[in-house]
Amino acid sequence: MTEPRISDSSCKSVFLTRPEVAGRLENLPYGGQSLFSRDAHSNRSCYGLAVYANIHGVMSFVEEVAATPGGAGIRACIQCGVCSGSCPMADHMEYPPRKMIAMIRAGLRDEVLSSNAPWHCLSCYMCTVRCPRGVKPTELAHALESLATEHGYRVKDTRTPAMYRSFVQSIRGNGRVHEFGMMFRYFLSTSPMAAIKMTPLAIKLFLRQRMPLVPRHTKGKEDLARIIARFREVRGNP
Ligand code: SF4
Ligand code: SF4
Repeated sequence: MTEPRISDSSCKSVFLTRPEVAGRLENLPYGGQSLFSRDAHSNRSCYGLAVYANIHGVMSFVEEVAATPGGAGIRACIQCGVCSGSCPMADHMEYPPRKMIAMIRAGLRDEVLSSNAPWHCLSCYMCTVRCPRGVKPTELAHALESLATEHGYRVKDTRTPAMYRSFVQSIRGNGRVHEFGMMFRYFLSTSPMAAIKMTPLAIKLFLRQRMPLVPRHTKGKEDLARIIARFREVRGNP
């Protein structure tokens, strides 16, 4: 097995503050060198280590989620159900927020990461505002989206990943969203026929100068593109 390593700065941020996990990882065999060395440098992220630890049974799925940006706080949930009762999208989700948290704790990794639930989150923050324990199911949903994408899970019943990809491509190229280009790419990758139905609306927006055909670029778009490129370098490019 290739020796897994993590970046020093990343591991300091999460794992070096988790001595109980670090201690268990130290005992794993990988060529005699500690995975948890402060001197170990590579492009593997702390999160990659969490996955590695999970695969080896050192970390549970809930620990993997808790180590993902946005996943912290999941252990505070008392399963009161206020989040699910507040969620406008609960009926469309395979698993509403409360159930999703219960499943994460039960270690149902495949079921959670292949479900449509996180992708249907509207980021309305109703659940987060109302949670009596300060859990942030909104951020949790986005953390699960990241995990699912990074590990190539096929997500049923949602086109949200295609929308995200189109959005990021637009930002990377222009420094801001170019609505026409973004929607063009989105429909091309999902349902070109659906674009025909949207044509009357697109014409109306164009005539009202709300949807320019030619993108406008912002100052410093190269800097933004570099930030996105760096993010992909660190977290992978699914
Ligand atoms: S509202 Fe908060 S404590 Fe209650 S089930 Fe949802 S996440 Fe858990
Ligand atoms: S933020 Fe997402 S999960 Fe929370 S209530 Fe809104 S749609 Fe539901």
